[in-house]
Amino acid sequence: MAGEPQADCLFCKIVTGEVPATVVHETDTTYAFRDINPQAPTHVLVIPKAHYPDAASLAAAEPKIAADVLHAAGQVAAQEGIDGTGFRIVFNTGTGAGQTVFHAHAHVLGGRGLQWPPG
Ligand code: C5P
Repeated sequence: MAGEPQADCLFCKIVTGEVPATVVHETDTTYAFRDINPQAPTHVLVIPKAHYPDAASLAAAEPKIAADVLHAAGQVAAQEGIDGTGFRIVFNTGTGAGQTVFHAHAHVLGGRGLQWPPG
């Protein structure tokens, strides 16, 4: 069923604690942890606790939770002290865009200058 935990999903396992992660923020609906392969001095992933394969399917099915993810991303940026200098929220959506984990997630990146357009 949409939103239900998936046995083969890495990020569902992080939510349950089955796979360890460095958690920096949590709400009723969201979970945030440090990326294991950081691409910037601050690189945190914000995910919905519910399983949706990508940001678009999350927003279509659960717009309130999608908004919760964005709200949490802003709170993480403030908590990490990168909100003053500028930060980026990225949702890679689909393999062609670089998505490798098919549980919706926002990358929160900051702490260095960020180029545009991204690669
Ligand atoms: O957008 P994409 O799907 O490529 O992002 C997945 C992210 O999950 C990567 O940045 C990767 O480093 C991260 N990751 C993680 N912990 C894991 C496995 C992947 O932080 N155990």
